[in-house]
Amino acid sequence: MSDVAQVIIIGSGPAGLTAAIYAARANLAPLVFEGLQPGGQLTITTEVENFPGFPEGIQGPELMDIMRKQAERFGSKHHFEYVDRVDLSKRPFEVVVNDVVHRCHALIIATGATAKWLDLPGESQFQGRGLSTCATCDGFFFRDKEIFVVGGGDSAMEEANFLTRFASKVTLVHRRDSFRASKIMVDRVLKNPKVQVLYNHEITGYLSDNGKTITGARMRDTRNGEELDAKVDGIFLAIGHTPNTAFLEGQLQVDAGGYLLLSGPSGTNIDGVFACGDVADTRYRQAVTAAGNGCQAAMDAEKWLENQDAH
Ligand code: NAP
Repeated sequence: MSDVAQVIIIGSGPAGLTAAIYAARANLAPLVFEGLQPGGQLTITTEVENFPGFPEGIQGPELMDIMRKQAERFGSKHHFEYVDRVDLSKRPFEVVVNDVVHRCHALIIATGATAKWLDLPGESQFQGRGLSTCATCDGFFFRDKEIFVVGGGDSAMEEANFLTRFASKVTLVHRRDSFRASKIMVDRVLKNPKVQVLYNHEITGYLSDNGKTITGARMRDTRNGEELDAKVDGIFLAIGHTPNTAFLEGQLQVDAGGYLLLSGPSGTNIDGVFACGDVADTRYRQAVTAAGNGCQAAMDAEKWLENQDAH
């Protein structure tokens, strides 16, 4: 079965590329389908300052490029195409890309999650220029600034609290008059003297005095439709993430939010199919934890393949 890859890895964020490094170093010659936005979410951030080993920080796209080069050095092969669908009901597994069927003995899914955006005009232009979906990544750049956090779930509470370490003031903008977040997290926010809550409002536009960075927001009162403009230095959206699992067409078990359910560090409900990174992580969602998960998935896949050979 020479045309069957030992391992196919789908995804190219820190999880997928670390899995590629480990699988390649285990002589498994992994085939990596990176998608059309290779590098994952880190390619839409600017400076990454919390990935160990880079005391001066590193640009997200550069970090992903060097991870890929590291994997290629050990023999991984990278394709910049999207996987349309997979068939996990047969062995070897099938991975369909642009009508071409690729087959593999073990499959590692590292397709990540996509932060939800408001889909307002100028959104892509302001990403990294006052607009962010990751407080841990970008909060540091807002020292003594005024910030809006949008959302009413646990992420919004966590981000609002975290951002008060840097910001002079955080306004939590929520479209309703009650939060879906857990009570303990809401209480923490309400007790924080640096946080103010603006209930019943949604953001309808990003404003910029200089055409480059965000300097304000247009908002709408959801009770009566009245609009108002407010000055603000940064806006953090915490309105949820969507795990990238559509191509799996329900073949793997997921939780209520669509995240892959794991048994053990990386196993899925199908033997030989492993998952790592944000596609199965609702909690940490960090580049370094995704990289660690990628290592685990590759080592688990290697061990699984070894056991297959032994039988
Ligand atoms: P979430 O629970 O889905 O909450 C999303 C929030 O964004 C909701 O309040 C929603 O408003 C609001 N929203 C959605 N679309 C919007 C839009 N277009 N405009 C304005 N507001 C919008 O997402 P999450 O907070 O990221 O949490 C996801 C999961 O991770 C949850 O299960 C959560 O418990 C978990 N989590 C846990 C922790 C922790 O335990 N430390 C931390 C973070 C997340 P509505 O309420 O009006 O729908």
